[in-house]
Amino acid sequence: MRIPQRIDQCGANRYFIGMKVVKLGDPILRQKAIPLPEVTDETRALIREMFETMEKEDGVGLAAPQIGLGIRLFVVKADDGVERAFINPQIIETSTETSVYEEGCLSVPKNYEDVVRPARVVVQALNERGRRFTLEADGFLARVIQHENDHLDGILFIDRIAPDKRARIEAKFATTPVPEGR
Ligand SMILES: [Zn+2]
Repeated sequence: MRIPQRIDQCGANRYFIGMKVVKLGDPILRQKAIPLPEVTDETRALIREMFETMEKEDGVGLAAPQIGLGIRLFVVKADDGVERAFINPQIIETSTETSVYEEGCLSVPKNYEDVVRPARVVVQALNERGRRFTLEADGFLARVIQHENDHLDGILFIDRIAPDKRARIEAKFATTPVPEGR
């Protein structure tokens, strides 16, 4: 595990446990995450750390289960460059109109597939201050929100592609069984 060392503004050394993005095959990616009971300073520190991890990995979204936490929280920085945190989100409306876009996932690295999703969504969530907001999104932002929200229900983008393609990707991430009798 990587443990990055950082230096704060006072020059004192501070250590953070490095966030590790879990990969396909880790059971946490398949679990339904639970709501966050409250938004605290700890939540805000976690969100900050998630944004940093996401940027370091060249991602545009990161959900808590991807760093091993089964809580309903994800962060997004889509093409408008705005950092948005979604706590206990709910997609309350989806358009009947759909769009196709090639998706990838930090938990399924180097695999990209076209995924069909509603073109527009309305999402409600708490922000990092614990305030409820409603956001109507379309285009790339709507796409990222839906991908990340799926993570909270244990759903991955490969569940939304043809079964044969999905099986091929899953096989790549399957751990090699230890031979018996050795
Ligand atoms: Zn993902």
